[in-house]
Amino acid sequence: MNKLAERDQAVIWHPFTQMQTAPLPVPIVRGAGSILYGADGREYLDMISSWWVNLHGHAHPYIAQRISEQLQTLEHVIFAGFTHQPAVELAERLLEILPRNQAKIFYSDNGSTAVEVALKMAFQYWHNLGQPRKKVVALENAYHGDTFGAMAVSGRSAFTAPFVPFLFDVEYLTVPTAGQEADVLKQAETLFTNDVAAFIVEPLVQGSGGMVMYEPAFLDELFQVARRHDSLIIADEVMTGFGRTGKLFAIDYLQAKPDLMCLSKGLTGGTMALGVTSCSQALYDAFLSDDKFKTLFHGHSFTANPLACTAALASMDLLLLPETQANIQRIAKRHTEFVHELTNYTIVANIRQRGTLLAFELNVGTQTSYFNDIRDTAYNFLMDCGILMRPLGNVLYLMPPYCTTDEQLTYVYKQVKALLTVI
Ligand SMILES: *Cc1c(COP(=O)(O)O)cnc(C)c1O
Repeated sequence: MNKLAERDQAVIWHPFTQMQTAPLPVPIVRGAGSILYGADGREYLDMISSWWVNLHGHAHPYIAQRISEQLQTLEHVIFAGFTHQPAVELAERLLEILPRNQAKIFYSDNGSTAVEVALKMAFQYWHNLGQPRKKVVALENAYHGDTFGAMAVSGRSAFTAPFVPFLFDVEYLTVPTAGQEADVLKQAETLFTNDVAAFIVEPLVQGSGGMVMYEPAFLDELFQVARRHDSLIIADEVMTGFGRTGKLFAIDYLQAKPDLMCLSKGLTGGTMALGVTSCSQALYDAFLSDDKFKTLFHGHSFTANPLACTAALASMDLLLLPETQANIQRIAKRHTEFVHELTNYTIVANIRQRGTLLAFELNVGTQTSYFNDIRDTAYNFLMDCGILMRPLGNVLYLMPPYCTTDEQLTYVYKQVKALLTVI
């Protein structure tokens, strides 16, 4: 049974994996709903939506059908000088659900490229206006992706250490979690000056940073400070987009509207790689000119791949169904009930929830980093129960696909409670 895993080990280098010490990877042969089926006959409930991408369950028949039809019609075409129905329709439909000030859609391949594009648009916006600005403000412990620009605007950590000399400087604001607000506002008043090109944030929930959550009203205040200095605002909704927070986008909880937005992950329902950077009319207009040098010189071979755009259209059909919206609220409500139970455990600290996202910390020992032993203990315990969760250090979190049933949730909560009593 381990044959595939061993062949894998001979030829493959996995993401975010120390290949010397990592156990053999688990071969998965198929998926359906929230369940992944292992080659050895075991089943795993995918409670992290396969790295935050899956919305409607695995191998969804409707999405599969739509991609299959598209595949037999047009698999790909160059996107400079040419266009196609799925790209146009997806842009139109995205603009219908994004904040009203978003006016144009730029396609790329993943979350990191969506961020790269947003940064390039922001820097070149100021360049094209003839008022170059260099400074970028981000939140501490932010995560915006693994390419160089995206790494630069992310927090500095063990993950970025070897690359620090190659990353451009960014000014960091403390994350405005409960109790920090007044201090952060004070910091913001000094950090934001008239040379800030852009302020980039993961609105309301910092994902990789440990599912850290903060309040919309306060982000609105920070945006106001940024606006006073004409800083552009980039909302990185690569993780929070498409219903995770209980609304279609985290930014929907705010009054303010961003100039740029980055989308990926749930965009195709977790089926195919696709990235989107959307922007306001004013940002777009700064690139219109008789001067060719004002062009945005950016593109990828697979820009607006028709199969990926079709997957996104199919996923959007499903997402907007009243049934799916009800499922999102159902999961949010079940999580809230579970939060009440969790408060009874002394080992549990900092419980937080926003919509379908639930996170808490395990209060054990002094180690609280990503490289914590607790992480492996929890991961292995849950895998043995047939539940895929990938704690971020001592932070346990749930991010289920929206099709996850009440019965499945009940099982997961029960096993998490079992973990809390043995740890
Ligand atoms: C995952 C993530 C990214 C990077 O997306 P990739 O598709 O993995 O490159 C960027 N921003 C946020 C907020 C993310 O969670």
